[in-house]
Amino acid sequence: MSENRGLFSLDTAQAYLAAEPPVQTAQLSRRLWTASCGVYRTLFIEADSGVIAIDTFGTPGRARAYARAVQAAVPGKSIHTVIYSHDHLDHSGFAADLAAGAEIIADEVCAKVVKLRGAEGQRQPTRVLSGEQNAIAIDGVDLLLLNPGPTHGSGNLAVYFAEEKLLFSSDTVLPNACYGLMPDYHLRNFVSLMRGFLALQWDVFVPGRYQLSDRAGFSRGCDFIEAVQEQCQRAFVEFVPIWAYEPMQAYVGDKLRERFGDLEGFEQHIGQIAIRVVHHYLMGGWGLEDTPRPAVLLADTVKL
Ligand SMILES: [Zn+2]
Repeated sequence: MSENRGLFSLDTAQAYLAAEPPVQTAQLSRRLWTASCGVYRTLFIEADSGVIAIDTFGTPGRARAYARAVQAAVPGKSIHTVIYSHDHLDHSGFAADLAAGAEIIADEVCAKVVKLRGAEGQRQPTRVLSGEQNAIAIDGVDLLLLNPGPTHGSGNLAVYFAEEKLLFSSDTVLPNACYGLMPDYHLRNFVSLMRGFLALQWDVFVPGRYQLSDRAGFSRGCDFIEAVQEQCQRAFVEFVPIWAYEPMQAYVGDKLRERFGDLEGFEQHIGQIAIRVVHHYLMGGWGLEDTPRPAVLLADTVKL
């Protein structure tokens, strides 16, 4: 059997792509469910006649396991709509395997990246949104889709549920320190844009990984990233060799351990986070994505 490959070129990747790990689901409200397959987490919504799934998980096998979990949670209704939280294959790469005929909703920048990327299994969006805020109704469900600006990946859409006082935003603020803040975090505006979500009324935060959080956990996650940003700037002043892993791990780790050392994964990840963040200040970011208007990158060159 040959799986959709994403960008993998090695045949040996088939074993990884085909594996179907268990997917756990939990009901959050009358219509809202969360699904987790190990590290990754997402949401799906029971609509009047079918199911709206956010994201697909990151392999064909995981997408199939997700579809089965949805079927078990909401018997008799199939996934008719998929919302891409952002372009990354580990979240939205395999709609072809999750729900082949579903409508795919995504932000315009995400859609353009998906089109240019041409990854096998990542379906092109069929409904493209633009702007900071889109209130849409799908099959009896009112959704508010928010893209405040460049936070993570391309065309990151957060989903706000006023009725449940719940916010979903994938790969942004985590309830721990278990992410290395790879180049796909757009640090220039990240914390201020994420803090902007606190203006909405919500009590539950669903990240794209790990466990659920709340407003206090979300605020602390913003504080943590901001504190790393501050210490990384101080590292220049102290003439820490900022390109080397061990000195940066030691410098930023020592500065932040007292305040944030209780965060799960702190010791294992603070070095990588520091290396990532310090290069933001060294180099100025990863091009147009780290400016307030990343859409100009693809505005005239990619037509959907
Ligand atoms: Zn991502």
